[in-house]
Amino acid sequence: MTLSTPRRYTDSVRIGPVVVGSEHSVAVQSMTDTDTNDVEGTFEQICRLHRAGCRIVRVTVPGMREVEAVRVIVEQVRRIFPDMAVVGDVHFLPSVALALAGVVDKVRINPGNYSGGEDFVELLDRCKATCTAIRIGVNHGSTGGRDMVDYAMEYLRVCRRHDFDQVVVSVKASDVGVMVRSCRELVLAMDAEGMPFPLHLGVTEAGNGLDGEVRSAVGIGALLVEGLGDTIRVSLTGPPEDEIPVAQAILQACGLDRSRAEIIACPGCGRTLFELSRVLDRVKREFGHLGGIKIAVMGCIVNGPGEMADADYGYVGAGRGLVSLYRGQSVVRKNLTEREAIPALVALLKDDGVWRDSS
Ligand code: SF4
Repeated sequence: MTLSTPRRYTDSVRIGPVVVGSEHSVAVQSMTDTDTNDVEGTFEQICRLHRAGCRIVRVTVPGMREVEAVRVIVEQVRRIFPDMAVVGDVHFLPSVALALAGVVDKVRINPGNYSGGEDFVELLDRCKATCTAIRIGVNHGSTGGRDMVDYAMEYLRVCRRHDFDQVVVSVKASDVGVMVRSCRELVLAMDAEGMPFPLHLGVTEAGNGLDGEVRSAVGIGALLVEGLGDTIRVSLTGPPEDEIPVAQAILQACGLDRSRAEIIACPGCGRTLFELSRVLDRVKREFGHLGGIKIAVMGCIVNGPGEMADADYGYVGAGRGLVSLYRGQSVVRKNLTEREAIPALVALLKDDGVWRDSS
């Protein structure tokens, strides 16, 4: 299976152990919702995020007291999770951003808190000296009425003038349409001025549950399938670790995550020849850990083989209680009982050298 989405070219930006940009996987990030001064509680949440698959975690840093707390948190993360990057999220004070350079792997700033002049240049110099990346994060609600893209470009130009290239940019909104259009415009503006900076994607205030997941998937997914976006955050109300599987599912749906099998299925209809949802769950359980392949579960041979044209393997209803297995478009085992079908599919994948035991 090949990746279906060509990425917009960007430079690489190093965020501690994680590198983002078009030469690298789209990185999933999240943000703690603890009081940063509660070092233990924050670190526990980071542990849960890491376990879920998050490799960039953002921690809120409203003042100098939190800078010291973050220093301890970063030390713990570097010791226990050397593959995880920590980002300091600065709300108001440029002095806090300056203090964070060299402590965290990336500083996220809101340009609304800068004059755009000397104070920002001082941060660039400090970050350059300490190998700290910056995210210029513009949110729709905090531009004071200014156009988000103009705002972001103004700060990116300062980065360019001062030869600072370790910068990621985002323009976020809670309105999905505004967010998507702004990101597209930002990319056009950057490309017109030769600025291949990586883009971070997210829909703010997405909410929770199905609504929040769909809003995020629509906004982030619309851009990812166009090849835009190098890091993403699914902002959901609730435990941050719950954001990670949603982000991973979005990446997989957009053809950008090959770490797990892509398992598709028909919706079922009057022609369906077995209990589709039960079989689908079983196939996910047995084969979900196999990265890089696509398996289709189809209820009948009337439309199944035609509809699964881009799948690597097919599990297709061949008669009442009978299943045929496909490799691509070719039938390789016919009329197996359901009991025989799963072991036969395992054997087929072993023959093809793509099976591995789940860890
Ligand atoms: S593949 Fe067959 S069973 Fe599945 S929805 Fe299409 S016609 Fe119905």
